[in-house]
Amino acid sequence: MRVGIIGGGAAGLAAALELTGKGHFAEVFEAAPFLGGQASTFEVGGGQLERGYHHLFVSDTDMVDLIDEVGLGDSMEWLESKVGLFHGGRIWDFATPMDLLRFSPLPLVQRVRLGLWTFLLQKTHNWRKFEDVTAAEWTRRHMGEDAYRVIWEPMLRGKFGDYYDQVSMTWLWGKIYLRVASRKRMQKERLGYPMCSFGKVFDVCGERIVEQGGQVHIGAAVRRINVTDGKTTGLSASVDGGPEQSIDYDAVIATTPSNIFTRLVPDLPADYRGVLESARYLSAVLVILVLDRPLTSKYWLNVADRALPFVGVIEHTNMIDRSLYGGRHIVYLTNYPDRESELYRKEPAELLEEFVPYLQRLNPDFKRDWILEYFHHRVDGAQPIIGVNYSERIPDHRTPFKSLYLANTTQIYPEDRGTNYSVRMGRQVARMVLEDESRG
Ligand SMILES: Cc1cc2nc3c(=O)[nH]c(=O)nc-3n(C[C@H](O)[C@H](O)[C@H](O)COP(=O)(O)OP(=O)(O)OC[C@H]3O[C@@H](n4cnc5c(N)ncnc54)[C@H](O)[C@@H]3O)c2cc1C
Repeated sequence: MRVGIIGGGAAGLAAALELTGKGHFAEVFEAAPFLGGQASTFEVGGGQLERGYHHLFVSDTDMVDLIDEVGLGDSMEWLESKVGLFHGGRIWDFATPMDLLRFSPLPLVQRVRLGLWTFLLQKTHNWRKFEDVTAAEWTRRHMGEDAYRVIWEPMLRGKFGDYYDQVSMTWLWGKIYLRVASRKRMQKERLGYPMCSFGKVFDVCGERIVEQGGQVHIGAAVRRINVTDGKTTGLSASVDGGPEQSIDYDAVIATTPSNIFTRLVPDLPADYRGVLESARYLSAVLVILVLDRPLTSKYWLNVADRALPFVGVIEHTNMIDRSLYGGRHIVYLTNYPDRESELYRKEPAELLEEFVPYLQRLNPDFKRDWILEYFHHRVDGAQPIIGVNYSERIPDHRTPFKSLYLANTTQIYPEDRGTNYSVRMGRQVARMVLEDESRG
């Protein structure tokens, strides 16, 4: 069977590996000049660094298996994550249940209540009972107004901006439930990272696809998915800078965000199009500082203070050995704004100027000349907004057009998006294509 795949991120590459591994022909078209999509890398200090911070949880077994499968298993390391919360002008340890008990900004009774409910969420397998309630409502009601104001509201605002009070409790349940797998009782969390970088993993996936008889093109944007009489016949793309050409396939798998997919298939039936158009995404805007010394002692710092113009500080080299980046220290300052927001549009230098004065709040010794260089990245379609009763609005992988399949991050639920789930989904959809073909 011949399958065209749109997108060379985790989902598209996993689908192509699955198909070529079973003796079929798969051809991947990636618009960007590199593979890896949201988990792609660029060069810093001689090493490869993700455009957006990336790590794995112990529960991310599909991604870990993929890394093994392409021969990079030796590069995986599981490291203690140092988690903190910036609140009330200082950084609090926030990695273990004991840290929560010591978190004095909340009255003791509230800390115990928060800890008990968190424990119960970790033990609750049935996510459906959280479907029809927002995380804001649920945490307020069960964990208390103080815990909501100090911890959950800043966390939800950080991830979902103005949509913070529309997010389903199922989303928050997923975050809490799955993270337990990365932590043994009363112990600190361990997070995984392929020391060769996520970018290398996806490059090697591309090589493996070619070895298995497939094709992978970068800088190859698909312009249109061709449909005749309700059946997909292939796609039109410009490959290797050449003229746009139409290529025939038995099936096409698209892994682009929904808003791009609807542009590639103009005549989609209204019902399915409506479901796709109801999906809303936030972008990620990242300023990456390369410093000559550490900023904080934490890997992951949630910023629970709305006065600061960023919501997360991920100091990559507080978990990953900085010798990979020529001995430099790497800090991501993150936000998840709307594409229409002022923050999204700001020029990199302007954003840096806005952020720098606040770095002294994280470390009073901070001086501007610690910054050796900085980078700025925008990642569109980074975070789908998961509202209440989301399961009713998930588009099917099988589209209304025969032989056309969609596999994107809006279809990952109840878990939150992540490389692991894109890999799992890519493989599942590839198997779906083969099953449909065998049924005729
Ligand atoms: C800031 C940030 C931090 C993250 N942290 C983590 C983490 O710690 N751990 C983790 O596991 N996950 C993390 N994720 C999520 C993870 O990166 C994504 O969920 C995953 O990479 C999505 O893979 P995908 O293949 O489904 O989509 P994408 O990576 O979005 O791939 C889709 C691809 O389609 C391409 N494309 C679009 N239009 C066209 C076209 N017309 N023609 C050809 N190609 C096209 C795009 O260029 C893109 O490469 C993070 C994401 C972000 C943004």
